[in-house]
Amino acid sequence: MTTTRLLRLLLLALLPLAACATDRQVIDQANEAHRQIEPAVIEDPMLVGYLQELGGRIVVEAQQLSQARFGPKSHFKEDNSWMFSRATFHFVNSETLNAFTTGGDHMYIYTQLLQQCRTEDELAAVMAHEYAHVYARHVQKGMNRQYLALGGALVGGVLGYTLADDDKLEVAALAAVGTGALLSFANKGFTRDDEAEADDLGFEFYARAGWDPARFGDFFQAMIDLGYDTTPELLSDHPSLKSRVAAAKARAAGLPPEASSWRRPPVAEGAKFAALQARAAQIAAALPKDQSLETAKTLLDAAANCLAPRDQPRQVEARAKIQAALGN
Ligand SMILES: [Zn+2]
Repeated sequence: MTTTRLLRLLLLALLPLAACATDRQVIDQANEAHRQIEPAVIEDPMLVGYLQELGGRIVVEAQQLSQARFGPKSHFKEDNSWMFSRATFHFVNSETLNAFTTGGDHMYIYTQLLQQCRTEDELAAVMAHEYAHVYARHVQKGMNRQYLALGGALVGGVLGYTLADDDKLEVAALAAVGTGALLSFANKGFTRDDEAEADDLGFEFYARAGWDPARFGDFFQAMIDLGYDTTPELLSDHPSLKSRVAAAKARAAGLPPEASSWRRPPVAEGAKFAALQARAAQIAAALPKDQSLETAKTLLDAAANCLAPRDQPRQVEARAKIQAALGN
């Protein structure tokens, strides 16, 4: 199949979706993207169980807040019961320092990020932030922005190009259509307002789920210490890490007195948390190094930053690889 035909196919299939993305579309496309990412997912029961336990704490609180009509309008625009029954966090094998969600059932915590966390509070804060993007339907908003700029959706073609067999190419291209706008969105990422809103909502989930409110900004502070905050806010799509740390401190200071009763011990601290980190590093290193893992890792690397205000070299390289595949 020629490149032109592939592109036409992608555009044609996208047209019915162009008006406005619905939950159903976002969920289907996120599931399709997940199939591509799955080879990088760490399936170890102990790590999966740990992540789901933390996630469960976040989701239970979010559901109660939802029942109390807490959150932006976008949270209430469609039935949102699926957000509380199917949300799944995954550890994924990636050397990039990031976390990401495709907006449906899946949220990804990169192993590099887990290794950088000094405490469970830091990990939980990032998870609560990711879940907040789902809660506020930020991916749906982002995809609608991409549909308006239909050309960007062609990034999805890369999934078709990962299969060498020409017969499979057309099928893969069709399957990739769903993820086209999603990937294109993934490339551009959330807006600065969406990130700030996810910090706001995420803080509420995190604090009510019992982690230390004063520690919500710790991971951003750690990133500043690692030198990730060198882009002036005006030149970035993201709020600066410094402003996110300051906002987190202000939120903690503004909590009502009863917030002290929300505190619960972490699921894993100290040596137990360090053991989970070591286990994840070991398992990530042992994943079979084949083409499907490479593709999954490239997609994860290419996803936009959810945390850092500037791109890491691996992210720039992965996007160049995708662009090159499209150009062939
Ligand atoms: Zn984010």
